[in-house]
Parts: sequence; C-alpha cells; structure tokens
Amino acid sequence: MDFSWTHEQVELYDRALAFARAQLPEAAKPSKEALPRDLWQRCGEFGFLGLPVPAAHGGLGLDTLTTARVMEALGRGCVDTGLVFSVGAHLFACVMPILESGDDAQKSRYLPRLCSGEWVGANAISEPEAGSDVFALKTRAVRDGDSYVLDGGKSYVTNGPSADVFLVYAATQPAHGYMGLSAFLVEKDTPGLSVGRAFEKMGLSTSPIAPIYLEGCRVPESARLGAEGQGAAMFKRSMQWERACLFAAYVGVMERVLEQTADFARTRKQFKKALGKNQAISHKLADMKQRLEASRLLLYQACWKMDRGQDAVMEVSLAKLAISEAAIQSGLDAIQIHGGMGYVAETGIERVLRDAIPSAIFSGTSEIQRDIIANQLGL
Ligand SMILES: Cc1cc2nc3c(=O)[nH]c(=O)nc-3n(C[C@H](O)[C@H](O)[C@H](O)COP(=O)(O)OP(=O)(O)OC[C@H]3O[C@@H](n4cnc5c(N)ncnc54)[C@H](O)[C@@H]3O)c2cc1C
Repeated sequence: MDFSWTHEQVELYDRALAFARAQLPEAAKPSKEALPRDLWQRCGEFGFLGLPVPAAHGGLGLDTLTTARVMEALGRGCVDTGLVFSVGAHLFACVMPILESGDDAQKSRYLPRLCSGEWVGANAISEPEAGSDVFALKTRAVRDGDSYVLDGGKSYVTNGPSADVFLVYAATQPAHGYMGLSAFLVEKDTPGLSVGRAFEKMGLSTSPIAPIYLEGCRVPESARLGAEGQGAAMFKRSMQWERACLFAAYVGVMERVLEQTADFARTRKQFKKALGKNQAISHKLADMKQRLEASRLLLYQACWKMDRGQDAVMEVSLAKLAISEAAIQSGLDAIQIHGGMGYVAETGIERVLRDAIPSAIFSGTSEIQRDIIANQLGL
C-alpha cells in the first residue's frame, strides 16, 4: 500500500486550503433563505463545484480520492460548513448524476453552468412518508404524449430556495417499486413547481433547505435523466458519491477543530498549568486525533475502491458512519475542553457540534448505514 500523495495532489490540496481560508469567509449577512451568490461563484471559480467533472464540461476532472482530498481542504479551510454542505449536495447529488446518466444535450446545458457557479443544483427525493424508506416515495410522473406530468411533494431539499435546477425522483411505474422510479431535471421556473418556506434548523444554517411542491408540473421527455426505471439505481450511486466525498469535508472540519482545541489546551492555564497538562484533557485530544485518522483511513479506502470501479458499498457506509459519529463526538469534546468559551457562539466552537449533528441523519441515517453494513455481512 502506498499512502503518499503525488506532487500535484499536494499542490492542489494546499491551494484549495489557502483559497478556502482566504476567499470563503462567512457571508456578510448569512441567510437561511438563499445561498450567497458571490461566495458560490468563488467556489465555482476555484473548481469546487465540479471537482470530478471532466474539464470538457467545466470541471477539474479529478478522481474520487483526489476529489475527497480537496473536499477535506474545503471543510478545513472554510468555517462556513453550511456553504460547504451546499457545495457537496449540489455536486454529488445533482451534478454527478447528470454527468453519469445525462445525454449530450443535458450535459452541455447543465454541467458548465453548474460547475462555474452560475447555477445551483438540488436533489429532491425525501418525502413526508418516504425518509429512510426512500423508495416508498409517492410523487408520480405520468407520461402524456411526449411529456411527463409530475405531482407530489418533497420534504427537505437542500439548496431548494436558491436552486436553478432540481433533480426530482418520481414513480413512473408505481407497481414496480424500486424498478419503477425515474429521475427528472426540473428547472426552477417550470409551471407547477413551487418552493416552500425555508426551514430554520439547528446547524448548517447558511445552507438553505425547503420543501418543494409539484402540481401538474409538465416537463418534456427530454427532461428525464437516464431511462425510465433507472432512478433508484441513479440515486444509490449519487449516495455513494455523497457519503464518501461530501463527508470528506467533515474530516477537514475535524482537523481544524483539533488544531484549534489543541492550541487552546496548550495556552489556557488553570491551577498554574496549561489545561493540556491534565491527562483528562490530553486524552480527550488524543481521542479526537484517533477518530480523525480512523475516519480518514476509512474514507480513503472507500474512495480508492470507487476509483477502481470495485463494489464499495460496505466501505462507503463504514466511512460515512465513522466520520459523522466522530465529528459529533469531537464537537462535544471541543466544547468541553473550551469550557464556557466553547459554549458561547462567538468562538465558533459550539457551531461545530450543531453543524455535525445532521451528518448522522442526511445521506442515510447512522441506523441505515449500520443496516447496510449488516446486510453486507450477510445478516
Ligand atoms: C440537513 C439535511 C439536509 C437534507 N437534504 C436533503 C436533500 O437535499 N434532498 C433530500 O431528498 N433529502 C434531504 N434530507 C432528508 C434526509 O435524507 C432524511 O432526513 C433522512 O433520509 C431520514 O429520513 P427522515 O428524516 O424521514 O427520518 P425517518 O426515516 O423517519 O427516521 C427517523 C428515525 O428512525 C430511524 N429508522 C428509520 N427506519 C429504521 C429502520 N428500519 N431501522 C432502524 N431505525 C430506523 C432513523 O434512522 C431515524 O433515527 C436532508 C436532511 C437533513 C437533516
């Protein structure tokens, strides 16, 4: 096994980290209603919005492992994890399905706009009655001549209030269950599509999320992504991307928080000695480091297998589960080590925990990841 990075990978990571630190600060007025378009465009200028997309379509053409490594730099360098999450949702659950399943016309219409930062993409599958049991969705797409009419509602759509295009999953053959789902690209001004009120949430507060409604929403046949019946497989594939590469950003967040917390433990003195000289504190930091590196290795293993076209279902779920639960525990430890300063919002420490908690829910909950792992064990 070779754990070394190439010169190009090191250079790209360093550049991404420096760019994220210098160019992606918190928006002047953070909002749950809309993404800050100036920061979004800067993400596009660097290439974050199209990391694994070939250059011919406006991306950087990276492999999965390098994509994950750059997402790590983004998560480490940009304190606005809401923005980073929006980038990941856009890229892995909307852009990648278009790249992997789109026809030439769809690729040339959407990919350059989505990669450059001109447009925002969203993925809409979850419904009030179809969360973890996502393939029980009720949204219908009924063929009518050379178009489809979509009816239904989607409960949580990240980037929904800002999105220019939605990747909507609907049943074209409800009796066929998993094999009866199809995917459609629905542009924001399509009659019959409306975006509901943006939700307030505990964390990731700069990543807007809202329900969307489809009422007699007519789209041409050319809006269907892939063949009829391919929607579920396409969604599963997009979750592989998201569970690996979006979660790489949380590895970066953990690294930033560890550095910040270790610095604090070295400099803050109580009882005439640095906090870190107490084993109760230094062991917490050792555990933070162990969780970070274990998560990272599981992530790299999953990406390595994805790059070789190998079945990585088990590895991706192991990585997603480990990273999300490690990020939450490290967020808790960071607050405890910072004491009162960890709890007040100004220091930005408590926010790390608030931003980490939903990572055990989206992209398939921790319980669902354990189910997948157990299933892979033949249980
Ligand atoms: C910040 C955020 C962003 C999101 N963005 C999007 C998006 O862009 N697009 C989109 O379509 N969706 C999105 N979602 C929705 C997300 O995918 C769902 O919340 C998630 O799949 C869980 O579904 P649910 O909330 O309905 O919970 P439920 O499925 O109702 O689950 C509730 C609890 O029961 C557990 N549970 C469910 N079934 C089982 C089982 N069989 N065994 C054991 N435990 C079980 C779950 O693990 C969970 O703990 C987002 C969610 C969040 C929090």
